[in-house]
Amino acid sequence: MKKPPIIWLNVSLFAITFLSAVILVPWRGIVHGYGASEWIAFIVLAFASGLSITAGYHRLWSHKAYKAHPAVRFIYALGGALALQNSALHWASDHRVHHKHVDDNDKDPYSAKMGFWYSHIGWMLREYQSQRYHDYQNVRDLQNDHIVMWQHKHYLALVLLMNIGLPALLGWLNGDVLSMLLMAGLLRLVVVHHCTFFINSLAHVWGSQPYTDKNTARDNGFLAMLTYGEGYHNFHHIFENDYRNGIRWWHYDPTKWLIKSLSWLGLAKDLRTSPQERIESARLQMQLLRTKRKVNNLPNADEIIEKIQAEYELLKLHLMDYYQAQKTLLEAKRKQLVDQQLLQQVEELKARFLVQQKHWRSLTATYS
Ligand SMILES: [Zn+2]
Ligand SMILES: [Zn+2]
Repeated sequence: MKKPPIIWLNVSLFAITFLSAVILVPWRGIVHGYGASEWIAFIVLAFASGLSITAGYHRLWSHKAYKAHPAVRFIYALGGALALQNSALHWASDHRVHHKHVDDNDKDPYSAKMGFWYSHIGWMLREYQSQRYHDYQNVRDLQNDHIVMWQHKHYLALVLLMNIGLPALLGWLNGDVLSMLLMAGLLRLVVVHHCTFFINSLAHVWGSQPYTDKNTARDNGFLAMLTYGEGYHNFHHIFENDYRNGIRWWHYDPTKWLIKSLSWLGLAKDLRTSPQERIESARLQMQLLRTKRKVNNLPNADEIIEKIQAEYELLKLHLMDYYQAQKTLLEAKRKQLVDQQLLQQVEELKARFLVQQKHWRSLTATYS
């Protein structure tokens, strides 16, 4: 098959910024050195641009996982231009196609099945899906967002302003324009580029699949550190409208913490979360599938599978009963109608669920 034409603008952009960063940044470091303010600006702008992509482009605009105040959306629009990953409108359009057709080499714009290089950066270097390039049908809702459309219209000017104007201004204030341009401009741009590109490449090949194996997306705590919390990508591909990617409190997900903090300040609202019982069910189903696959070769496989299936059904039943009772209790609390009988019932269902969960764990451990 003949390869589509090269997009020279993108090739030059990625090549020049990457090579300049590897050569010029250390060169300046050796002959001149960098001060604390350049390092601080590098970190602050890396987070500002990275989080504008993850909290803004991704969780807000692509997935509508929450609603944000116009002031926040305006900052995301500037931060998105700083990250230099196309306009929010275009990015969200690509990303919605990625979720809808994940791993489909003909439709997913950065299909992981096309290989690491392609999903990381290769997809932007040639006109792979040029017929779709100006089709924004799947982001009609975003076309009503004035800030999204303003950014889309003035994208190039904003890119130059944020990537050259802002670091130059910071450098001028600090008395060393070149060092600031190299650290807060160039190096920051290249580092954030590749860290966020890892979500399309590494997060689809490296890590575990606790929720589903119907697509290539993986959960990876280490990767979360490089991607502003987007490393819990297996969870994300099944619960895409959840404002969280790392659902445990200790999961490193600064994007989730930012959104939650904005909600406390009244700058974000309607944060969406997936029902806990659906999350637990997905995990259980995966465990069932894995255990079944493992015992498949045993001589008495049929008998064991029947037993595992029965225990699974029972656990799922107890899980649903317990979560339903919790909901009833919450509702009763709201109406101030809690009585001793209800409390006791919830406790009993919880105990029954926990016993069965323990049972399930030891059963799956036996066959793992
Ligand atoms: Zn993905
Ligand atoms: Zn997504």
